[in-house]
Amino acid sequence: MSKFWSPFVRDLEPYVPGEQPKMARLVKLNTNEHPLGPSAKVIEAIRAAADERLRLYPDPDALELKDAIATYYRVKTDQVFVGNGSDEVLAHIFFGLFKQDRPLLFPDITYSFYKVYCGLYDIDYRPVPLDDDLAIDPADYSAPNGGIIFPNPNAPTGRLLPLDAIETVLAANPDSVVVVDEAYVDFGGDTAIALVDRYPNLLVTQTLSKSRALAGVRIGFAVGDAALIEGLERIKNSFNSYPLDRLAIAAGKAAFEDDDWFQRGRELVIEERETLRHALEGLGFQVLPSAANFLFCRHPDRAGADLAAALREQGIIVRHFGKPERIRDHLRITVGRPDQNRELVQALTELI
Ligand code: PMP
Repeated sequence: MSKFWSPFVRDLEPYVPGEQPKMARLVKLNTNEHPLGPSAKVIEAIRAAADERLRLYPDPDALELKDAIATYYRVKTDQVFVGNGSDEVLAHIFFGLFKQDRPLLFPDITYSFYKVYCGLYDIDYRPVPLDDDLAIDPADYSAPNGGIIFPNPNAPTGRLLPLDAIETVLAANPDSVVVVDEAYVDFGGDTAIALVDRYPNLLVTQTLSKSRALAGVRIGFAVGDAALIEGLERIKNSFNSYPLDRLAIAAGKAAFEDDDWFQRGRELVIEERETLRHALEGLGFQVLPSAANFLFCRHPDRAGADLAAALREQGIIVRHFGKPERIRDHLRITVGRPDQNRELVQALTELI
């Protein structure tokens, strides 16, 4: 690292994304991508947008996409913010909403980018331990705080909070913003977007990377009270006025308009998840109930690191975090295509 960087940058601990290996034949179950390719209508829309208009800047407000999201969720367009993946939306949120003299609260086992943004933006935070079943207890989120964030379902556990539990957190914290990161909500949860008109302190983020199979395009969004959204727009316009390019805007709009593809994709993932869960339990794994497109599990007789390494030797990649100690032996396994899931189970049957 060059000496020209400040000590602050030299000490930053960046997020380490899941591996994106180049090997040709791989069963890639490590980064929670959708097992299917996106809707054919999305690909058509990208093709149709790829013409001479690419010399022009895109709509800085991505209005066509915001309108499609607003229509889908029955909210107003000024309640929607869009960004280049939900990681970028979260970056704007952390930058502007959580810089307070009280700590941000989030679960001790959760999406590791939260801690990274706290480092980048110098935000004080306090991890809140999950309960004995690795679930979020809403009663634990009542201490004085400068904001609250958690994924629902949580990652990497897959465990879901029902909307009434989210309301408990919202009602207990009228003076702080509660961000519900719904990256995986379409695989089994109810969206808290239904609550935004009643709670001006609620911001819900979602992504098209998972349930709409568009991780490679980078589209995320937030829905909340228009006054909260206004601040995100201000930050965006002070940073990059055009976060979504023309192809992404076209793709996102088409994705929300093809509900048939979306529903079929969700159903496949949910069905496969339950089949895989039963198969893993049959091999002696302890598997947490999951409302996401992945399973979080451990085998009582086998170290997680060893299992992940042995699978890797056979070209099957799953995610092993190893830390903190409580999840040392857990694996997070993305639900793949039926043939990939069968290959995983076959490999595990031989290993155990
Ligand atoms: N939130 C959670 C909980 C996630 O797991 C992810 C995916 N790594 C994201 C947000 C970010 O997704 P994206 O930037 O692809 O929208």
